[in-house]
Amino acid sequence: MILILGGTREARDLAARLHSTLGQRVVTSLAGRLADPVAPAGDLRVGGFGGVAGLAGYLSDHGVAALVDATHPFAARMSANAAAAARLTGTPLVRLTRPGWAESAGDCWHRVPDMRAAVAVLPTLGRRVFATTGTTDLEILNLISGTEILLRCVETPPTELGPHVRVILGRGPFSVAAERELFAAERIDVLLTKDSGGAMTGAKLEAARDLGLPVVMVDRPASPSGEGPQSADSVEAAVRLLGFAR
Ligand code: NAP
Repeated sequence: MILILGGTREARDLAARLHSTLGQRVVTSLAGRLADPVAPAGDLRVGGFGGVAGLAGYLSDHGVAALVDATHPFAARMSANAAAAARLTGTPLVRLTRPGWAESAGDCWHRVPDMRAAVAVLPTLGRRVFATTGTTDLEILNLISGTEILLRCVETPPTELGPHVRVILGRGPFSVAAERELFAAERIDVLLTKDSGGAMTGAKLEAARDLGLPVVMVDRPASPSGEGPQSADSVEAAVRLLGFAR
């Protein structure tokens, strides 16, 4: 059985390829953050494993032949746990992660190491922020003053947010035209986002470029230190590393 640590589009695409096309037994694991996640092909389990020891136990108890860490680039704890549990149990590990976004001509990006640095720089760039930073670390948005924030999430975030933060719900993919319209209607003057990468949510960056808006881009967290897993930047590359390519 192949265990995929999921929560991303790439994880779903890999589950579909391994299970539906290649006939492999696949279990996708989700943290359980969303009440209504998109169901992957194959089997599904939901909820934390209980740290490194819990995941190592799961790998041994279920005879997992290979582990794929296809979690979001910002899910640093789960990736570190996956690397440690794979080492402990000798389970082959593949890290499937989409490439980050790259700045191109006409962009005005401010790269920052984390959300704390982002909220420090934001008020110098604009007063009406469009934020697409997921549902983690949101309490930090409460520290910003003199700035209106429009926050787009897939589901209502669990964090209590100040009156200057308005939440709208939306699940990608989004079109560039729709993003441009939203920015204009809301008089957005700066975009705050994380370097998630991928086409599903990249349209906002094109819209920001078209409108000449600055972007505060939170960099990805560092990968776990030590000998890392084999890395794949696409589903096909992961399939090859797992040994299923023809
Ligand atoms: P995290 O901080 O790295 O992980 C925190 C804990 O959540 C882990 O220690 C683990 O609990 C549990 N967990 C995380 N991913 C899991 C999975 N796929 N299956 C089972 N347990 C999991 O993770 P996060 O940033 O909160 O993200 C949670 C999930 O949301 C991830 O699966 C990720 O792919 C997805 N996601 C995250 C973001 C983001 O911006 N961070 C964006 C989109 C989707 P135990 O220690 O108990 O095992």
